[in-house]
Amino acid sequence: MHRRTQGEDGAARRDRVVRAAVEQGLVGGTESSPPLVCLLDTDGIRASAAALTSAFAAALAPGTPVLHAFAVKAAPLVPVLRLLADAGLGCEVASPGELALARAAGVSAQRTVLDSPAKTTAELREALALGVAVNADSRQELERLDTMLSRRPAGPVGVRVNPQTGAGAIDALSTATATSKFGIALRDPGAREWLVRAFVDRPWLTRLHTHSGSQGVPLPLIAEGVRELHALAEEINEAAGRRQVDTLDIGGGLPVNFASDEENPTYAQYVAALQEAVPALFDGSYGLVTEFGRSLLAKHGLVLARVEYTKTTGGRPIALTHAGVQLATRTVYAPAAWPLRILPYDAKGTPKTGPPVAQDIAGPACFAGDLLATARELPELAAGDLIAVPDTGAYFFTAHYGYNSLPRPPVHGFTTTPEVRFTLARPAQSLSDLLTEAGATHPNALL
Ligand SMILES: *Cc1c(COP(=O)(O)O)cnc(C)c1O
Repeated sequence: MHRRTQGEDGAARRDRVVRAAVEQGLVGGTESSPPLVCLLDTDGIRASAAALTSAFAAALAPGTPVLHAFAVKAAPLVPVLRLLADAGLGCEVASPGELALARAAGVSAQRTVLDSPAKTTAELREALALGVAVNADSRQELERLDTMLSRRPAGPVGVRVNPQTGAGAIDALSTATATSKFGIALRDPGAREWLVRAFVDRPWLTRLHTHSGSQGVPLPLIAEGVRELHALAEEINEAAGRRQVDTLDIGGGLPVNFASDEENPTYAQYVAALQEAVPALFDGSYGLVTEFGRSLLAKHGLVLARVEYTKTTGGRPIALTHAGVQLATRTVYAPAAWPLRILPYDAKGTPKTGPPVAQDIAGPACFAGDLLATARELPELAAGDLIAVPDTGAYFFTAHYGYNSLPRPPVHGFTTTPEVRFTLARPAQSLSDLLTEAGATHPNALL
């Protein structure tokens, strides 16, 4: 049942997946079925990895070394990292936890990059010993590395630069403002000269890094940051009298369209924007590292949640569901910046139709603002219906927020050809895990 039909579009495929999730008991509108499940589209993730790889391969001079390192924070799940590794990607990590996940997924040190503005000496020592690529974020971190490196490090070491090219639409995700906390600010007085000298004085520095945008930053502005990075590399190499900087790490940040199923902008469009702003980036004189996160995973995540109750308050219908702040933290706290689509289904997983009614879609947490959408025009939801929340594969259910001791929901991967098949990628957090996290092994600690 529910086999693929010819020419099936994304929405029809999703409907088939929702129906199968209900029929296979992953989630449901009845008392005995689980109220919440998170799904990841395995084929979709592979397709995005392939689109990334081929967009850069098509533009780069043949033989140019390139590493596409997935930004682990976007979806810190070992099976996801392993799937991406199988598709040829590495990992960008920013904490000991993320490094451990990359290693658990079998990603080698040579395919791992460590970025973080607050690396401890112990973290640096581990990364250097493993041969993980390290990007120093500050002058003080460089000085710390000076004291740690008695000989050439096993892996490459670079410096993160803030090109100070300006903000995008979301302040919290704008990494290249005049005062961003990341990297060494390139346009501050004397900074450029200091950086050139820092490289000439340290022959072991071979990389430059920037992550000049993220959601909300337009492509030309991201590309401008990369152009600044390339120009700085040329200047350093000129001053050094050799090709000291051999690799440019251009970060991630391709924005994602949350308004429809369309994937826009594409990696090919981003590469075109880079080709226009900095054509020399592709001529083979530098190896490349990228660090995409959201754009690889976002479109491939789907949350399914039961409507437990409905009510009308002050004239506004409200659907009380099991999907709230625990898995859509940014949407709940910053709804204007992070709008999500809500797709209605009935208890059997069939798309729900009917005249549109403005209603609030609420989560289970005990504060008034726990809303996934307000005044959203949808067929009027009823208790036992399901909502699907697409585009949630990055920074949503993979960035759990433990409010109200709500457990981490289960995550299943799925494929759809010829029929829908699910595989468990992360079990639901058990009550005993939740208790351990809550100090239950030290109950008398405060007596
Ligand atoms: C978060 C982050 C990324 C990934 O950003 P996306 O917007 O998810 O592509 C890449 N590099 C660094 C250093 C980051 O902090």
